[in-house]
Amino acid sequence: MKENEFINELTKLNIDLTSDQQEQLKTYANFLLSYNEHTNLTAIKNLDEVYLKHFYDSLTLSKVTNFTNQSLLDIGTGAGFPGLILAIVYPNLQVTLLDSNNKKIKFLKECISKLNLKNVTLVEERAEDYARYNREKFDYITSRAVAELRILLELGIPTLKVNGHFLIMKANITLEEQNNSLGALKELSSSIISTEEFTLPNNAGHRTILDIQKKSLTDSKYPRSYDKIKKKILK
Ligand code: SAM
Repeated sequence: MKENEFINELTKLNIDLTSDQQEQLKTYANFLLSYNEHTNLTAIKNLDEVYLKHFYDSLTLSKVTNFTNQSLLDIGTGAGFPGLILAIVYPNLQVTLLDSNNKKIKFLKECISKLNLKNVTLVEERAEDYARYNREKFDYITSRAVAELRILLELGIPTLKVNGHFLIMKANITLEEQNNSLGALKELSSSIISTEEFTLPNNAGHRTILDIQKKSLTDSKYPRSYDKIKKKILK
């Protein structure tokens, strides 16, 4: 997807980028690709694919919600998707990018300073550790391609405010995976309020976004340690 195609497609999502935002995205794309030549951050190796599979894909979240000046945590952000894109496009949104991988956080630190972003906080930590001392803190949590649904719920729901939304993005979240998570959702007082299924432009693949809302405070025993989460997945 060429940059002009990207900008046109965004207007269909009701997103009009300023020229400054277009420049920031261009800087981000070029920095990502050049950094990726010496440090493996993404399997995507060319500009058109960055615009489609990282930038446009991240912004499909606008199909399910209107971001304004809320707080958002992106769990397992990797090289900044979708969190850093949201921070550029929604400058009033307060974005925390979380990843346990040092090389990704190092890249993000340089990137944020290059882009002069003031609405981004970086955290190098495991989500289950971070959640222990940041309870019921965020209006939104996002996570793209990070873990199986039931594991992700236990990692994310404790840091979400009551009535907040956990937006989970994956190529495919089957009905079976959703049904298997019903026990975990109940235990974490949350429910799936919508499932958005669509295909990326240029037939570039199927995508699912789940919108999960938290209904009441999470029991302080969650999240458990990662060992326990994996050994005894919430049923
Ligand atoms: N969200 C990005 C994207 O879609 O391009 C990155 C996806 S990558 C497949 C998964 C990322 O999640 C990795 O950067 C990994 O370090 C991070 N991750 C996985 N489990 C995590 C955890 N428990 N806490 C923090 N980061 C985690």
